[in-house]
Amino acid sequence: MGRLQQMTALVVAAGSGSRAGGGIPKQYRPLAGKAVLAHAIDHLKASGIDDVRVVIGAGQEELYRQAIGERILPAPIHGGAMRQQSVRRGLDAVTSNGGGSRILVHDAARPFLPRRVVERLIAALDTNEAAVPVLPLTDTLAFADELLGETVKRDGLVRVQTPQAFRFETLLGAHRRWSEGDATDDAQIVRAAGIEVATVPGDAMLEKLTHEEDFLLAERRLAASLISRTGSGFDVHAFDQGRELWLGGMLIPHSRGLAGHSDADVLLHAVTDALLGAIGAGDIGDHFPPSDPQWHGAPSCRFVEYAAALIEEQGGRIDHVDATIVCEAPKIGPYRLAMRQSLAGLLRVPLGRISIKATTTERLGFTGRGEGIAAQAIATVRIPEII
Ligand code: MG
Repeated sequence: MGRLQQMTALVVAAGSGSRAGGGIPKQYRPLAGKAVLAHAIDHLKASGIDDVRVVIGAGQEELYRQAIGERILPAPIHGGAMRQQSVRRGLDAVTSNGGGSRILVHDAARPFLPRRVVERLIAALDTNEAAVPVLPLTDTLAFADELLGETVKRDGLVRVQTPQAFRFETLLGAHRRWSEGDATDDAQIVRAAGIEVATVPGDAMLEKLTHEEDFLLAERRLAASLISRTGSGFDVHAFDQGRELWLGGMLIPHSRGLAGHSDADVLLHAVTDALLGAIGAGDIGDHFPPSDPQWHGAPSCRFVEYAAALIEEQGGRIDHVDATIVCEAPKIGPYRLAMRQSLAGLLRVPLGRISIKATTTERLGFTGRGEGIAAQAIATVRIPEII
């Protein structure tokens, strides 16, 4: 078993601090469309850690449920009034689930976790029982109230961040022996038990979100770190007598419609698949199985809006969609602008970001024989990079 598979991550999200504003504890506040806690979880998972458990505070069940969305995680652990108690309860929960060999304890209010920090911590645990990321101090430190007081020598001082890495039994034993009230991190609890804690270089990305300006900075940082992704989609539906023809979310007057389980809007199906493809979220059949009766006759607008919402949940944005409809009839030209407007409305983007084209296949093949309509689409989106 690899070192990452043996690693459990415990995310402490039990705080009730709402100093940063927004009216709810900061770990549940949205950041670029996704809760701060969800950013932290996604970064841990992206670092290769599968076993991620979250400790929440009393009465935070609903905030937690909304924050994690579709993510599949073990049931949250209920923390205590103090951080130390919350971590202790998390360790007890891991123990009653069969225990662990190595553990990372992380604060939910540090949403950006570079993979390189996790790798340094894991490597340090090979030869140490505990390891923490630290950063040097660059500002002058001094006492002050109204007036500036004595300067504090900063030689040898560091800022200690999370996640902090421990051999599981070491951390559990130290927590069991701890009797000094609360602690702001776990390294001090382990040190109090007489165990040496190694340091590895921390990272400026790991800064804790505390004040309103931290959130503004984090939003800006996320916007700057968006990476471009492209997805493609393709779909075909056969003509069927006695059906309405829906294309691009519009009812088009025509002698025949398209066969299908939903409204058979071939253009919106191709666009939905392109959007899902851009974020690696499978295809339309995964999310709306034709075998599920609830999608019988469903308007395909819902599929497109769902895919757009998935992108938004990831803090992403839709830059452009370009689609081509392939058929001999009906003529698309007269409806093209209205279709673009319809799709722009569904995706909530300006009209200029939507392109719809049409072509025939020169009477060749199934579209040439008028047996059905094909559509293909390419979507360009930007999503936050997972480091
Ligand atoms: Mg289809």
